[in-house]
Amino acid sequence: MTDNNIKEIENLIKIISRLPGLGPKSAKRVVLKLINKREELIKPLTNALAQVYKNVVRCENCGNLKSVNINCICLTKNYDQICVVENIADMWVIENTGIYKGHYHILGGTLPTFEGKNNKKGLLIDSLVNRVKKNSVKEVILATSATVEGQTTAHYIQDSLKDYKVKITKLAQGISVGTEIEFADDGSLLSAFKNRSPIITN
Ligand SMILES: [Zn+2]
Repeated sequence: MTDNNIKEIENLIKIISRLPGLGPKSAKRVVLKLINKREELIKPLTNALAQVYKNVVRCENCGNLKSVNINCICLTKNYDQICVVENIADMWVIENTGIYKGHYHILGGTLPTFEGKNNKKGLLIDSLVNRVKKNSVKEVILATSATVEGQTTAHYIQDSLKDYKVKITKLAQGISVGTEIEFADDGSLLSAFKNRSPIITN
């Protein structure tokens, strides 16, 4: 890849090209920039990455990121609404719209559609049920994607919560079928949130 085939550089380009939005070409540009600014960029970046690696973990209760030494907000504050999303990117998108200011629950993915519902793949569904139980939550907003997997997951959660006195709502139309929350535009997301509808259970 480089004229002298420096293996350290090739390795770095390979890693960086795995980041979202960066193909091999832009990864190469990033690496060149880094090398040209060794002191200003490589040093602080190495340090910042090490800090994140060491100190940032996923909360086992709500799935959000937290500092390793600090209690997660989900354990220290009371709340009566939880918005359930598939991943952190989805939460950030909803946060950006400013329409919802409550707590989140980040599942960490979706249930596989065909492998049977026993395969929860480490999704934080049991802990969601616990949070609902412990905090006397009044509303759970299911903001999973309008994909088959997202909807399968929403159904499973709805079923898991059927014994609790909690209102379950899901995002309304506006998010077209097949759209992942992360890629929905703000307008659609706002209208889907505003018009969220209760899920009727029998
Ligand atoms: Zn938490």
